[in-house]
Amino acid sequence: MFNAHLINDPYGDPGVYVEFKFRREALLFDLGDLHVLPPRKLLKINHIFVSHTHMDHFIGFDHLLRVCLGRDKRLSLFGPPGFIGNVESKLGAYTWNLVENYTNDFLLSVTEVHPDESMTREYRCQDAFRPVTPMVRKDFSGIFLDEPFFFVKGEFLRHKVPSLAFALEEKMSVNIKKSELVEMGLPVGPWLMELKGRILRNETDETPVRAWWKEGEIVLSLGELRERVVKLTRGQKMAYVADTGYSEEDAGRIVDLARGADILFIEACFLDADAERAAEKHHLTALQAGRLARRAEAKRMILFHFSPKYQGCGHLLEEEATRAFEGSET
Ligand SMILES: [Zn+2]
Repeated sequence: MFNAHLINDPYGDPGVYVEFKFRREALLFDLGDLHVLPPRKLLKINHIFVSHTHMDHFIGFDHLLRVCLGRDKRLSLFGPPGFIGNVESKLGAYTWNLVENYTNDFLLSVTEVHPDESMTREYRCQDAFRPVTPMVRKDFSGIFLDEPFFFVKGEFLRHKVPSLAFALEEKMSVNIKKSELVEMGLPVGPWLMELKGRILRNETDETPVRAWWKEGEIVLSLGELRERVVKLTRGQKMAYVADTGYSEEDAGRIVDLARGADILFIEACFLDADAERAAEKHHLTALQAGRLARRAEAKRMILFHFSPKYQGCGHLLEEEATRAFEGSET
C-alpha cells in the first residue's frame, strides 16, 4: 500500500512523491523543485524516475544530492536517452576534493533507457563521483524496476524530446478477514498494521507476531495468521504522465500504460481554447488529459503542470478535464 501526492501545487515544478506504508521506502517521479519536502522524506527515497531533463523536471537533483551527502545511501535514478550525460554534467559542476575523507558510502546508480536498451553506470561519493563501473548494457522492454512487491514500467512519449511516462503497480495488497479475527478471539488494532508489514516483507511462517489489546496479548505464528486471517488481492496502481504533445499514437501508449490506474497524475497545461499553443509547446490540454483518463478507465485523475497564464483560474482547467473524464462534455 502506498500514498502518492504531488510535491508542489499544479503551477509548480512537476513531481510525485510515493511513500510505501509498511516499508521505509519512497519513490520519486520527476526531480523538480523539492524544497517543500523535509530531509526526513527525501532520505526515504531509493528510486527516482525522471521523465525528461527540462529544468523544471530535473533541478531538484542538486538539492537531493546535498541532503544525501555524508550518509550511507544508494540512490537509483532512471531517465531518457542522454540522461547519463545529464547527470555526469551535474556531478562535474562541483569540486569534490574533500569527499575521499568521508567514511560513509553514498552511491548513485544511473540508468538511461532507449527503446530497446538500457545503460547503467554507478558513481561513488568517496571516488569523487567518478564512474566506478564500466557502462552496463542490457535489453530493455519497458520494465524499469521489478521488486518483490511492486514494479515500475514506462513508455516513451514525444515532447520534442523523448519524455517518459511511468506506471507503478503493486503486485498484491494485504487484506484482513474480520470475521476470522472474531472467530479467533483477536481484536482489531495497530498490531494488524505490523502483521501487514510482515506479510509484505515476506517474513517466514515461524516469525512470532504479537497481537495486543488493553487487557492482554497473545503471540501467534505468522504462518497461522497468513493462512487464516490474511487475504491477498490486487495491489494499487498509479500512473504518471508528464510533458507530452498529443498524438493518437502517444494517446494509445498512455491509455495502455495507465489502464485501470487507481490514480493517474496527468499534465494539463492549457485549456482547449489554447490547443494550438499546447501543440506548439508539445503539451496536453485539460480536455485531452480528461479524455485520456477516461479512456484509460482511471479511477481518479490528478492534474498538474498548469501554465502560469492560468494563475488564479486553475478551476477552468479542472472543470474542462473533469467534464471530459466524466464523459459529460457538451
Ligand atoms: Zn518539458
